[in-house]
Amino acid sequence: EKMQAPSAREEKILVLVRLRPLSEKEITADEATDWECINDTTILYRNTLREGSTFPSAYTFGTQYVPMSFGLNFKLYCHCNRVFWGDCSTTQVYEDGAKEIALSVVSGINSSIFAYGQTSSGKTYTMTGITECTVADIFDYIHRHEERAFVLKFSAMEIYNEAIRDLLSTDNTPLRLLDDPEKGVVVEKVTEEILKDWNHLKELLSICEAQRRIGETLLNEKSSRSHQIIRLMIESSAREFLGKENSTTLSASVNFVDLAGSERASQALSTGARLKEGCHINRSLLTLSTVIRKLSKGRNGHINYRDSKLTRMLQPCLGGNARTAIICTLSPARSHVEQTRNTLLFACCAK
Ligand code: ADP
Ligand code: MG
Repeated sequence: EKMQAPSAREEKILVLVRLRPLSEKEITADEATDWECINDTTILYRNTLREGSTFPSAYTFGTQYVPMSFGLNFKLYCHCNRVFWGDCSTTQVYEDGAKEIALSVVSGINSSIFAYGQTSSGKTYTMTGITECTVADIFDYIHRHEERAFVLKFSAMEIYNEAIRDLLSTDNTPLRLLDDPEKGVVVEKVTEEILKDWNHLKELLSICEAQRRIGETLLNEKSSRSHQIIRLMIESSAREFLGKENSTTLSASVNFVDLAGSERASQALSTGARLKEGCHINRSLLTLSTVIRKLSKGRNGHINYRDSKLTRMLQPCLGGNARTAIICTLSPARSHVEQTRNTLLFACCAK
């Protein structure tokens, strides 16, 4: 039976799930997986070894295990718009999942694409590939539409402890968010590079990676505690009207958001030296999930974008006419089952 590709137009929020394969290291360590994808939209937890027994309590994440809907024989189903698993490539995740939303930017529609999941589940791997696919398609679109003049701008930021840092600048001064009457919220003084070609993109991505790594050596595991946002802005106007009074510029942005490890959200209430980071991560992720949940329910009421830097910064690209996709990345390893389950709970709430 052929499944229908998810249509971004019909969905308020597109929820995609990606289950990566076991890594070499996990295989060497004799890891196993209890997750199965039974069709293009359903992922299933089935551990026949544990059927009839109680769920193991040896997980180390501090929270008590609360059975959700394991039902008979410990089966947990999660339905989403599309599940990608095993050897499926990031290009396929892009083509069959995120593409329509990412490319709405060329029609002047804002969008955000998130990677949500625990550390090592494949967020950065997935997001980098999706960003590259999108840029390739945007360049292609620009070449096929010579009747319009396009400017494609690239910027990259990191949010750590509720401070926004420019990943294309060595200046560590936190960036401020300002309310612009026309554009909504803007990031003041953020570096915007005009993207020339494919090599330029590769160059910028490696600068961002290096900048993120510098932070990491200063503070252990920083990348799992910070959010990275890559923003592509596209402006275009019809060439025949260029410089004339009736010339109008179409502009929009697409945001690729590599979120902090979701394990931080569950750990956030722990006490100790890392409480500060924990609280901020908790705040950003919790605010984001609240915002996402309200948007997915289509509720009109007040949405608390201002409760965290991340949601405030993304406000023009969340809700309203903007389009949103969330890619929930999962580790298949048995030892990660508790976090995988938490990520799927988030996926179910967003759907
Ligand atoms: P995260 O950003 O969530 O911490 P990464 O993207 O760094 O996780 O992925 C962890 C490791 O797993 C990396 O070595 C990455 O190359 C690998 N990996 C992630 N997803 C896949 C996948 N779908 N297929 C193959 N390798 C993957
Ligand atoms: Mg990462």
